[in-house]
Amino acid sequence: MNRILKIQNAIPLHYIRNNAFILLNNCSKLNWNSGFHYSQFQTLKYYSTDQTRKESEYDIVIVGGGIIGTASARELLLRNSSLKIAIVEKENKLAAHQSGHNSGVLHAGIYYKPGSLKAKLCVEGIGLSYKYCDEEGIPYKKCGKLIVATDKSEIPRLLDLHERALKNNVPGIKLIDGHQIKEHEPYCKGVKALWSPQTGIVDFELVTKHYGKNVVDRGGKIHLNFEVTGFESVAESQIGSKRGNEYSIRVKGKGDQSVRCGYVLTCGGLQSDRLAELSGCSGDPHIVPFRGEYLLLKPEKTYLVQGNIYPVPDPRFPFLGVHFTPRINGDIWLGPNAVLALKREGYKWSDIDLKDFMTALRYRGFQRLAMKYVSVGFKEVTCSAFPYFQVRALQRYIPEITTADIVRGPSGVRAQAMRSDGSLEEDFVFQREKDCQTGSRILHCRNAPSPGATSSLAIAKMIADKLHEEFDI
Ligand SMILES: Cc1cc2nc3c(=O)[nH]c(=O)nc-3n(C[C@H](O)[C@H](O)[C@H](O)COP(=O)(O)OP(=O)(O)OC[C@H]3O[C@@H](n4cnc5c(N)ncnc54)[C@H](O)[C@@H]3O)c2cc1C
Repeated sequence: MNRILKIQNAIPLHYIRNNAFILLNNCSKLNWNSGFHYSQFQTLKYYSTDQTRKESEYDIVIVGGGIIGTASARELLLRNSSLKIAIVEKENKLAAHQSGHNSGVLHAGIYYKPGSLKAKLCVEGIGLSYKYCDEEGIPYKKCGKLIVATDKSEIPRLLDLHERALKNNVPGIKLIDGHQIKEHEPYCKGVKALWSPQTGIVDFELVTKHYGKNVVDRGGKIHLNFEVTGFESVAESQIGSKRGNEYSIRVKGKGDQSVRCGYVLTCGGLQSDRLAELSGCSGDPHIVPFRGEYLLLKPEKTYLVQGNIYPVPDPRFPFLGVHFTPRINGDIWLGPNAVLALKREGYKWSDIDLKDFMTALRYRGFQRLAMKYVSVGFKEVTCSAFPYFQVRALQRYIPEITTADIVRGPSGVRAQAMRSDGSLEEDFVFQREKDCQTGSRILHCRNAPSPGATSSLAIAKMIADKLHEEFDI
């Protein structure tokens, strides 16, 4: 049985890094005004692993402690409480990357191609998310969203979006005229808009931590600081194992870490192509990281924005365009833009990883995309360097905003999946490659971009169905 250690200064950090897996402790029920602090989710206990070299064994290991990995682990345990499940995460906390660096919008399902996984899972996911937040006491706000046409040339695209939203069964969606925009957003101007009352905001990092707590409460394990470096098939069972060769995959981590399991699910976000390659599967679709930088509206100007205000998106691009997003703490974020990140998990221009950068530049798909959109790329970089240009784009919606009203804010990095012909992978992609030995026991989540966080509970259900179908678990 594992020994419980209280966090003490006396425990050397390397001991915790190498031997501990984190268990998230009880958190109190929350409501909108509860003044909740993340510190309530900080680790209170560490459980040391055995001091022998025997590896821990699990029915399934999930690589990646983002919102998709934790939601999937939770769903699997809800369906079968006797499953032995572990999440392995390379960072020292959950939601360290995309799940903790996003706009925090609960999307209603307006944009996505009818019949696509995104359309289906987003509409299902937002309903499940509201219900889950109510049950767990996670604060959210159903503040609605306007997609605003600022001139007549955008109206045909707005009407197309309305059609899509109706086909996707988005609740409450309606077209409104210029003067009705003011009823929702008194400072916003436009000639026509789509109003979505179902859209909301939430803190997805907090949601991920709740999923993690649910996993631990149901007996799952979370190994932090465990960076997966390889998968191998193991022919022989461990000495003393009664389960024969049931746990025939070794998941290797940095240092001398390893765990064994029967099956693997990878939910590696920005590293999803590399994790697939590590298991002998194809590196296609390839991930190219695009950083999205936000500006912050100064507190004295937050009255200018009530809910989410979005532009009519240009269907040629995968991103929704710079928008106004209220945050659950009362801040207003403006953005994000989209610039090539010089490091997969690099949140500033000064974060550079030559391997990541050169991999992106050398990838034929990226070269083709870059050639096609040279001027758009140049515009995005200019907006990043000179926020004045981004403010000008925002003034089309709220003319009162000036450069004096904004400061630079946080950023996130999107995992943009693309094919070698330069086409962007638009839908969610989950893949098992049956013809590689280790990889045949692995399901890879290859693409889970926005609205992945909104859809997380619905994605988790789909993944659990797929794991049952493919591996009978
Ligand atoms: C700027 C931005 C804005 C967005 N806005 C929204 C929004 O408003 N609404 C919405 O619904 N969605 C939004 N999204 C999308 C949403 O954030 C993602 O769909 C979601 O977070 C994906 O979750 P994930 O678990 O797949 O990935 P991640 O959160 O990136 O998690 C992957 C995890 O895998 C770990 N990992 C990777 N490699 C290894 C390894 N070798 N070993 C161990 N662990 C590993 C990483 O450390 C990471 O924690 C946005 C995304 C971005 C970037």
